[in-house]
Amino acid sequence: MENCIFCKIIAGEIPSAKVYEDGEIVIFKDIEPIAKVHLLCVPKEHFAYLSELDGAREALLGRTLKKIADLAPALGLEDGYRLVVNQGDNAGQTVRHLHIHILGGQPLGWQ
Ligand code: AMP
Ligand code: ZN
Repeated sequence: MENCIFCKIIAGEIPSAKVYEDGEIVIFKDIEPIAKVHLLCVPKEHFAYLSELDGAREALLGRTLKKIADLAPALGLEDGYRLVVNQGDNAGQTVRHLHIHILGGQPLGWQ
């Protein structure tokens, strides 16, 4: 997708600190971390919103959540973590390529 920063990261056109990659997802460090561990899990397929899920994407999302759970101890998240998916303007979504924030490495507040 043209002008999508995450597509460019996936294509290797923009550098990123990748911690995991397979055929359908990539996980890299957020450039402006808000927790000791702040990763972004991004499906390689470009779509922006959960409202665009179809059967195949639902299955992809399920596998992605399972992958995050499997990787969590190796990512420094053995004491727990939070997943955040910003959707749209009120959530402050700045990158319109679906991504899951993975936050942890410390106790997280709640607001
Ligand atoms: P959101 O506000 O949910 O759309 O989240 C987008 C996230 O992408 C923000 O937390 C940014 O810090 C992060 N981000 C933007 N550009 C980059 C980049 N080049 N490498 C890593 N993270 C980025
Ligand atoms: Zn994209």
